[in-house]
Amino acid sequence: MLTLWTCHVRKLTKGRTNRLFIAMACMSLICAIADLWMEFVVNPVPLSRGQVILGTALSFTYKLLRNSSLVVYLIYIFSVTRTEYRLNTLGSQLFIWLPIMVAVGALVQNFFTHNVFSVTAEGGYTRGPVLMLLYVISYIYALAGTGYCIYCRRYLVGSKWVALISVYVLTFAGVLIQMVKPHYLVEMFSTAVGLMFILLLIMRPEETLDGQGLVRDWNAYQDTLKRSLRSGRHFQIVVVEIMNAAEIRSYLGDKQFQSCIETIAAEISTLYSGLCVHVDQFFEIPGTFYLILDNAEIDVKTLIPPFNRTIAERMEDYARQGVRFNLEYCLIKCPVDLKDFREIINFGHSFRYLRKPAEVYEAADLIRERNYGPLTNIKEILNRAITEDTLEMYFQPIYDIRTGGFRSAEALARLNDPVYGMVSPALFIPAAERVGMIVALGYRILEAVFSFMSQTDLGALGITRIEINLSVAQCLQRELPERIRELQEKYRIDPSQVNFEVTETLFDNLGGIMDKNLRTLSDMGYTFSLDDYGVGYSNIQRLRALPLSIIKIDKSMVDDMFTSDGEVIIENTVRMMKGIRKELVVEGVETAKEAKACEDLSCDYIQGFYYSRPLPAKEFVRFLSEHNVAAQPGNGTR
Ligand code: C2E
Ligand code: MG
Ligand code: MG
Repeated sequence: MLTLWTCHVRKLTKGRTNRLFIAMACMSLICAIADLWMEFVVNPVPLSRGQVILGTALSFTYKLLRNSSLVVYLIYIFSVTRTEYRLNTLGSQLFIWLPIMVAVGALVQNFFTHNVFSVTAEGGYTRGPVLMLLYVISYIYALAGTGYCIYCRRYLVGSKWVALISVYVLTFAGVLIQMVKPHYLVEMFSTAVGLMFILLLIMRPEETLDGQGLVRDWNAYQDTLKRSLRSGRHFQIVVVEIMNAAEIRSYLGDKQFQSCIETIAAEISTLYSGLCVHVDQFFEIPGTFYLILDNAEIDVKTLIPPFNRTIAERMEDYARQGVRFNLEYCLIKCPVDLKDFREIINFGHSFRYLRKPAEVYEAADLIRERNYGPLTNIKEILNRAITEDTLEMYFQPIYDIRTGGFRSAEALARLNDPVYGMVSPALFIPAAERVGMIVALGYRILEAVFSFMSQTDLGALGITRIEINLSVAQCLQRELPERIRELQEKYRIDPSQVNFEVTETLFDNLGGIMDKNLRTLSDMGYTFSLDDYGVGYSNIQRLRALPLSIIKIDKSMVDDMFTSDGEVIIENTVRMMKGIRKELVVEGVETAKEAKACEDLSCDYIQGFYYSRPLPAKEFVRFLSEHNVAAQPGNGTR
């Protein structure tokens, strides 16, 4: 009862494994009650008719449930070791069900023959010769279970294994004691103690993330990965990453997002259920699934296109709302491609930064990529960037359509590492966010830009504003405004010359410190723009919640601007932003045709390779001298 109550309190009621455990605990509880009650009913003889009937019913119940609970426990062991797929063959099904069917048959025929046991008025409870068959059957299950536990030693950590096998060891001991001293009813007590061990050492409600127990959490992934590596077996990991998970989550809300995750998890498990391979499924917030496949031979790649089609179908309703699940897949063969725990974890986090999108990224190819070294040693590289002089700021001029000159520029960080060479910000910025170094790096960047601004007469070069990217983690720092104020004073910066670029992920953290910081900086005279508009799912109400003066339209919108849908989208976006009095920068303009189209749309500023790539400080100054100072303003500069 204590075990069942604990299950209830710890909410251990979801998932197949937990349900098997509860079934086993319920059966054991009923057995214990029947066993105890029996002692009072059949003693002393002679018995009344009612006692005979009750005694027969109790003994029948006890024997039936005692044997059945061993079957349930055996299946539970397969479930805990995540090897249920081994029960899918005809042979194992027969092995599981045939003995218990024989036992049930023996108990049913006992009503007529009384050769298993009998309860009579004069003789009380007596054992029959066929009772031995029930013992043999329970020994078959118990021995099979014990043997399988020993065989599965490598799948389980020590404590879990001990708990699992303790049920058998304790029950064997209980049975032995009860055989010698039949009135010591310790058998069920020892089983209950074993179940308690399981409850304490195995059952982990916090590991399961969904209603059906299909997906376990990030900690469970790390545990299972370690165990799989230690076992020395060959296995595969499939990483399925929802690239736009954070945006979708903030758009749909937690509840609907969770239901999408459960749908995807269920589809994944349907996909591999036909494969006759054991798959463990894990999920890392905000949107990455990790599948550990017990088999290194199966060709997972062929499954992905049909899987993509299924997901597209299942998510059609969301697609109609404009929410598309952008999934990327990566395949790691262990220990062939990678065998170090840390390296595998890092790889799962960073594979997508290694190369342009591919249908399936394969670790075997990616580890030969140029960026693999920098990515897997990113902490070392970031440390050098923060403590040594390997960080360099580049500046990309931004064209002002109204004045026909370059009035602002975006500061973009570059890392020129002595060991790994030039490292792209598309790689090191997300990595710095992931490993918690973005704040320190962010201050280095701010200092580098302020230092450049203090040494350069930007006004004389026609520049009124420098744009600096701020990441969400930076904006969440309580001391951000104070630190900026210190730097501002140190370098004598006029805040009106600085505009901070923030992204939509900021909306998820609005309120509290973030809100306060943005408003304090805004009061200090800094302005803000929203970067990469069009990548996420912002709605106009949310845009109005921030002190944003400029919206930067993402390159992806520009890329689509000559398709019929794309044209409508960009036109409406511009109209809408103008309606709420925002200035507009279009990013990623590469051709004269695109630049002309942006001018026709009456955007305010254009940034892109068409005008200039990001330039090192000296070249940037030279560029401005040539285009802003030498050229007549208003003549166009190209
Ligand atoms: P972003 O802030 O959206 O910066 C614009 C990116 O687009 C830059 O990439 C720029 O080089 C690129 N770009 C500009 N015009 C064109 C074009 O015409 N065609 C193409 N294909 N690309 C163009 P970059 O420098 O590689 O930076 C990538 C991202 O890394 C930035 O995107 C920003 O999110 C982040 N980042 C860069 N520097 C910093 C920084 O100092 N701090 C922070 N927090 N993030 C930074
Ligand atoms: Mg930017
Ligand atoms: Mg951008």
